[in-house]
Amino acid sequence: MFLFEEDTLHYSKLFGATMQMMERLIAKALEAGFDAAGAMDCSTIILRPEVREACETNKCGRYGKNWSCPPGCGSLDECAAHIRRYAKGLIVQTVGKLEDQFDGEGIMAAAHRHEQSFRRISKELRRDYPGMLPLGTEGCSNCDLCSYPDAPCRDPLGASSPMEAFGMMVRDVCKANGMEYYHGKDTITFTGCFLLE
Ligand code: SF4
Repeated sequence: MFLFEEDTLHYSKLFGATMQMMERLIAKALEAGFDAAGAMDCSTIILRPEVREACETNKCGRYGKNWSCPPGCGSLDECAAHIRRYAKGLIVQTVGKLEDQFDGEGIMAAAHRHEQSFRRISKELRRDYPGMLPLGTEGCSNCDLCSYPDAPCRDPLGASSPMEAFGMMVRDVCKANGMEYYHGKDTITFTGCFLLE
């Protein structure tokens, strides 16, 4: 109902002469500290109402409290309209090795590493793609206290929404773009993406 049907175009057809550029972006992502990166065909993105509905349970505590999360980030239709502006993007992942599934410190360390890499490459990409849309793993925490809903976002270019806030099922986005979602036993994977142009 909401968005794009899955598209079977292969990367080489989609990106054509820009393949080298994508390879450079992937290399840049790895240099920034990510463990994996890949090209994203934005026509594969499907926005699911049920993902947004899960936000309403407010398990993360940011629903209705942050411009980057629903409803502050816009309705699902508004998110869909935003995403339709883009054809290609970059998927980035941090894969943390855990001692076991209860390794909370390992999970936190991987999350921190992912956030650092995300901030690092965001600044670089923003220079070349000033209109890009960064989508991360959690609501924006750039300010001690988000200005939502009393005043406009203080840093709209620096803020990023979680992929789920836009209704994306991360597993599906990875699968549709040839990226692993699960990297094996005793690992944790954080995935983000940048819709570029
Ligand atoms: S930059 Fe600040 S005001 Fe804007 S979404 Fe992030 S926390 Fe909220």
